[in-house]
Amino acid sequence: MSEEQPVRYERRGPIAVVTMDRPDYRNAQNSAMTYALDAAYYRAVDDDKVKVIVLAGEGKHFSAGHDIGTPGRDIDQSFERKATLWWDHVGKEGGASRYARESEVYVGMCRRWREIPKPTIAMVQGACIAGGLMLAWSCDLVVASDDAFFADPVVRMGIPGVEYFAHPWQMGPRFAKEFLFLGERVDAARARELGMVNRVVPRESLEAEVMSLADKIAAMPAFGLALTKKAVNQCEDQMGLRDGMDSVFGLHHLAHAHNAEVGADSLAGQDARSMRDAATKT
Ligand code: ZN
Repeated sequence: MSEEQPVRYERRGPIAVVTMDRPDYRNAQNSAMTYALDAAYYRAVDDDKVKVIVLAGEGKHFSAGHDIGTPGRDIDQSFERKATLWWDHVGKEGGASRYARESEVYVGMCRRWREIPKPTIAMVQGACIAGGLMLAWSCDLVVASDDAFFADPVVRMGIPGVEYFAHPWQMGPRFAKEFLFLGERVDAARARELGMVNRVVPRESLEAEVMSLADKIAAMPAFGLALTKKAVNQCEDQMGLRDGMDSVFGLHHLAHAHNAEVGADSLAGQDARSMRDAATKT
């Protein structure tokens, strides 16, 4: 098992390609991957030759979401924290652990990545589920292959969406409710109609299309790109993204705490297998 290196890094001219590399687990995101992604992004930001960053997933699927059941699940491990000044969640109980951990590795990290001062492009094929959405949404552009699909099924756990709650801004409030209430898959074409995806291309030309797009962006001046990205992000925050996400994070943790109080665990007894089985039944 190549678990030591959950993320690959490669520079192709002005483009850094950051690839999640746990294809046997549909690139399920454990904390080892989170911190490896962060290190890769940091490296790309620090390299003046890099103008654009592409986030990719090895294999058939972009990301199955957070790791809630692979052998490499590392929820009880400590890591050197990068996104927040919260205490280490390890050794803490209940909300004091859960809130600190999710503030750091989910909301904190995705916000940090959204603010990378270089354009980022998510290159999405196959599944982009729950926590996978957070990785794609924190990028500036999303290019999907025609076989890509998107879903946030965590309402099945009694939880109102993933931690990085950008749904109403990504697809509009009306459809965000349907997306969450049903938890069903939305295909790439529909995701584009909703404004969640920039372009849909054939699976076989996905990489070539993304690299060509990245090359065109890379011809722009670096500081101009950084300021433009910040301009749009600031406006999105003026439209309530940041404050909305903060308030919903409280509801998210109310749901985790409710689950832990009345049931077996904070995920309402669901794991990767039960979530997948439920999803394939619908
Ligand atoms: Zn959570």
